[in-house]
Amino acid sequence: CGIVGYIGKRDSQDILINGLKKLEYRGYDSAGIAVQTAGGLAIRKAKGRLAVLESALTDSPLQGNAGIGHTRWATHGKPSDENSHPHADNSKKFSVVHNGIIENYLTLKEELAAKGAVFQSETDTEVIAHLIADCYEGDLVESVRKAVKKMRGAYALAVMSEHEPDKLVAVRLASPLIIGVGDGENYIGSDIPAILEHTRDVYILNDGEMAVLTKSGVALSSVDGNSISREMLRVEWDL
Ligand code: GLU
Repeated sequence: CGIVGYIGKRDSQDILINGLKKLEYRGYDSAGIAVQTAGGLAIRKAKGRLAVLESALTDSPLQGNAGIGHTRWATHGKPSDENSHPHADNSKKFSVVHNGIIENYLTLKEELAAKGAVFQSETDTEVIAHLIADCYEGDLVESVRKAVKKMRGAYALAVMSEHEPDKLVAVRLASPLIIGVGDGENYIGSDIPAILEHTRDVYILNDGEMAVLTKSGVALSSVDGNSISREMLRVEWDL
């Protein structure tokens, strides 16, 4: 339902939580974040209000300058801690948040299970994490490109990997996603309010487009691999 992402010079946890708060008006049943910490990719997620996640984070905070976050409106699998996003693959090296529905997730799930994927949730989304891991041959962007070609349905995705901790990958089809451009820091949001307190310079992604974010820049391309140059949009309104 709601997606945020941050990569930059500041600690990501509070930026992600505050971004998710700005998307609360859309409704949700659970929430979670994944952060690139010194010890690797770490996930905290919980059924219920953002306050539940926040109190878990107060007990054991996540420190790191890159992360992704999600508020979920369940479509596949009941609201529960396990079904909350972010989802990960077996190795826990790839993490994904997703808005939308993957229509062919059962077929993909069977194929991936046959190759050894062990599923922790009932969601269509978890399939994406295992699929990206399965497609990975040393290049995160290429693995996301290969994975989305096998997916049918609607998705806005933010993807992160411990193998390439200095980047976030965003991609969409039939579900909204925007990129916020800052100074030495960049953002992903499913909607402008998620990032508006940090920047007014945004790229709106179109269907079949992806963005690769580092702290110093944003590169847009088609899922086929052609680079895209586009004017940044300046958001003139306030919340
Ligand atoms: N289909 C996914 C799920 O049920 C994503 C739902 C959403 O857009 O929040 O977990």
